[in-house]
Amino acid sequence: MTTDFTATRALFHLPEGVIYLDGNSLGPLPRAASTRVARTVAEEWGNLLIRGWNAAGWMDQPARLGDRIGRLIGAEPGTVVLGDTLSIKVYQALASALEMVPGRKVILSDTGNFPSDLYMADGLVRTLGAGYALRTVAPDQVAGAIDDSVAVVMLTEVDYRTGAKHDMAAITARAHAAGALTVWDLAHSAGALPVDLRGTGADFAVGCTYKYLNSGPGGPAFIYVAPRHAEAARPALSGWLGHEAPFAFDLAYRPGAGIERMRVGTPPVLQMAALEASMDIWDQVEMADVRARSIALGDAFIAGIEAACPTLTLASPREGAARGSQVSFRHPQGYAIMQALIARGVIGDFRAPDILRFGFTPLYTTMEDVTGAVAALDEIMATSAWDRPEFMAKARVT
Ligand SMILES: *Cc1c(COP(=O)(O)O)cnc(C)c1O
Repeated sequence: MTTDFTATRALFHLPEGVIYLDGNSLGPLPRAASTRVARTVAEEWGNLLIRGWNAAGWMDQPARLGDRIGRLIGAEPGTVVLGDTLSIKVYQALASALEMVPGRKVILSDTGNFPSDLYMADGLVRTLGAGYALRTVAPDQVAGAIDDSVAVVMLTEVDYRTGAKHDMAAITARAHAAGALTVWDLAHSAGALPVDLRGTGADFAVGCTYKYLNSGPGGPAFIYVAPRHAEAARPALSGWLGHEAPFAFDLAYRPGAGIERMRVGTPPVLQMAALEASMDIWDQVEMADVRARSIALGDAFIAGIEAACPTLTLASPREGAARGSQVSFRHPQGYAIMQALIARGVIGDFRAPDILRFGFTPLYTTMEDVTGAVAALDEIMATSAWDRPEFMAKARVT
């Protein structure tokens, strides 16, 4: 273990009295992000004005930050670029991948996938018409459902509800053997566990930066295209910043070199400044250390909750290697229980219909946090403290 997690925790702002177990949904604020963003606003936007695009390197940031994220996900240099939201990147990757498998019209995904990914796929097949279809099967049925009608296998590696992890290498190999391509969504993988895009032979991958990578609310997504596809992938969202020469203002679109063509429009400069501060922390971290620590934290939480709260049912794989960096439990009153927990300063989240979800993020989560969260949940369950009208009222975001 070479990563000093006491040191990394000190680099985050964590409010007094809060045990934060929701970094899988929105990472906390890296202390340096406040000053980094303030500097970008005052010195770059304020004083450089339009000159910031060149002088402050704003235009190259999406590729520079892409390379830094690339190290965490086993991507080759120059294969990852930032921009837009994850839903948009899912659409882009899918559209390009589908076009590269002529004669096949099926996108295969699973029913555990995040709905937005499925909605984007549904929107794409409706636009394409002509027999294109989205097929979903249960998560454990995916490998067996890859037949010679499938053009693209689109999966989120780690299930957002249960935390169950797909075998990326095995499914990618199976897809390739059947003549299909893969699109991997790394929303709950990037910064959560080691990913080896190059080694697994993944074709396309996408992910977000505001969860484990701590870029702040609305931080940009990323997209990866394997080098062997980089010059063949046609960008479906052919915006000017993906053009070979945006400032030639040609009327005809020509895709940029390699991953640059997956850019669409103006990048979010302020948000990238926050991400840069976060990546300064990630640059000091080994993913293998993060993984070992995250499994230890999750295992301790499972043991603690199962001993203290027998009415909660484990929804995540018990074996650490089979899950991502979160642990989920089911309870019919899950929503109210989570609100009671949040009222006590223990922040996780709720996913319909009955999932209490807790993220374990070693950069700033400690064993004391686990112990404190177990004690709070134990007290809430033992006293039925969740059974109050204010904990039943559903908020817009759960
Ligand atoms: C969080 C998440 C999203 C969110 O997409 P946005 O466009 O960034 O809102 C999409 N897909 C998966 C799998 C997610 O976990």
